[in-house]
Amino acid sequence: MTTNVCWCGCGGATKNRFVPGHDAKFHSQAKKVARGLLDENTLPPLPHQEAADEFEKWVAKTRLADAAKAAAEKTGKAEATEGATRTEVRASLVARIAELQARLAELDGDEAPATTEATAEVAVS
Ligand SMILES: [Zn+2]
Repeated sequence: MTTNVCWCGCGGATKNRFVPGHDAKFHSQAKKVARGLLDENTLPPLPHQEAADEFEKWVAKTRLADAAKAAAEKTGKAEATEGATRTEVRASLVARIAELQARLAELDGDEAPATTEATAEVAVS
């Protein structure tokens, strides 16, 4: 078995790319850098170009996912987001259903027989 230096920059030895658990740290740091929450220059230097490329890939991936998510939220279509989990899609759909039901109730309220102009106005507001 060959031993590698952990890709996260900690200097630890591993048989894989990362010391167990360090992949999560690596990826969360890339996400923070992508979101401007962490300065890349304050991180320990990565052991080689392959690790640096992987880090940049995750930064780019996070930026793309965040942009797609923001766009999807804007149009109320979180279900179109590539990175959206089943739970996120479900929550988005439940919210949309509630919104549509509220609009239906409003429409039904408008169609209810109004005896005077005054009551129709009350129903609208
Ligand atoms: Zn490490």
